[in-house]
Order: sequence, then structure tokens, then C-alpha cells
Amino acid sequence: MNTDWQEDALCAQVDPDLFMPEVGGSAKDAKRTCNACDVRAQCLAYAVEAGERWGVWGGLGQQELRRLIRARRAETEAA
Ligand code: SF4
Repeated sequence: MNTDWQEDALCAQVDPDLFMPEVGGSAKDAKRTCNACDVRAQCLAYAVEAGERWGVWGGLGQQELRRLIRARRAETEAA
């Protein structure tokens, strides 16, 4: 899996704890950073392919990301 995009990750310039919010905590600030990140698409593609289950990736919170991963897997299985 190509991870060259991580060199341009905007989250590397901010508090990493923002991307791992406590249960019930807000991911709003992390998502705001993702929205300004040049490698958001690559980050999200990586997270889906890797099956990341924790934290904010590509502008999605972990529940959103888990739903997307389940949906993609269901699409793959149905094809
Ligand atoms: S999209 Fe968000 S989590 Fe992904 S590299 Fe950019 S800032 Fe980091």
C-alpha cells in the first residue's frame, strides 16, 4: 500500500489527539483539518483499504468510516 501521501498529511502539523477523540468526544476539529488537507482522498482510500477502525481518517469519524468499509465490503461481495 502506497503511503507517500502521508508526507503531506495536514494532521502531522496539529495535535494528534484531535484524531482520536474520547468516546462521546467531538471529531469536529479533526474533520475541519481534513477538509483543508490536500491528501484527503488518498487518506480515505488508504483507511478503507487497510480497514482502519479507530480515529478520524479522510474527514470521516470512526463510525462513518466503519459504515463505509462495511458498505464497500458488501459491494465487493455482491459483485
Ligand atoms: S485527511 Fe485528515 S486524517 Fe487524513 S491525512 Fe489529511 S488531515 Fe490527516
